[in-house]
Amino acid sequence: MDFFPEHLSTYINQHTSIEDEVLTELNKETHQKFLMPQMLSGQQQGVLLNLLISMIQPENVLEIGTYTGYSAICMAKGLPQNGHLHTIDINDELEWIVKKYIDKAKLTDSITMHIGDATKIISTLPNTWDVVFIDADKINYSTYYDLVFPRLRVGGYIIADNVLWSGKIADKSAIGKDTAALRSFNDMVQADSRVTNLLLSVRDGLMVIRKNND
Ligand code: SAH
Ligand code: CA
Repeated sequence: MDFFPEHLSTYINQHTSIEDEVLTELNKETHQKFLMPQMLSGQQQGVLLNLLISMIQPENVLEIGTYTGYSAICMAKGLPQNGHLHTIDINDELEWIVKKYIDKAKLTDSITMHIGDATKIISTLPNTWDVVFIDADKINYSTYYDLVFPRLRVGGYIIADNVLWSGKIADKSAIGKDTAALRSFNDMVQADSRVTNLLLSVRDGLMVIRKNND
């Protein structure tokens, strides 16, 4: 997922705050027991998400795509006292590990996990969002954007992960459904006059988007 040269990525890791014990253990157990452990945010992105949440101080955060809970835990740790994070994942086989590590991280009061298809669950949640982290199936990124936008507060943020798609996004010879979906997502955001956006080249690329005043 990380398309930086290995020596550079190693250097960045060596100069970025390291994971605490709970996250290290979660990282290990994910690698031992789950498919595609490279989907887990990891040290650099975990710290970035934690810092962004600490800066924004949101009351309501929505995460679309929990996987084993690494990014949810990183974000929840940055929440203010009255802050809460809702996270959605379609895969019910993940529930036990997410719950286990939320518990170990002492974040049971800060995180609510929803199991099911995010395209269906999002509209059932009554909240207004201050931050939305989009990190589920790439094919639905534009759908998620349209679903959450009306209930994103003005001045709120959408952060979308993997928007560089290992560099394939800018490689004209790269084809495939996910690449195409991410290209049209990035183009749609860029063309949206309601937002200020930055394609941040951390790890696999994060689109950071603020909803502006009308
Ligand atoms: N945010 C995690 C990684 C998420 S990986 C982290 O950074 O650590 C992507 C996740 O999206 C997978 O766990 C997958 O089960 C989930 N997913 C895929 N399609 C989905 C859908 N339609 N609704 C909800 N979750 C979905
Ligand atoms: Ca991701």
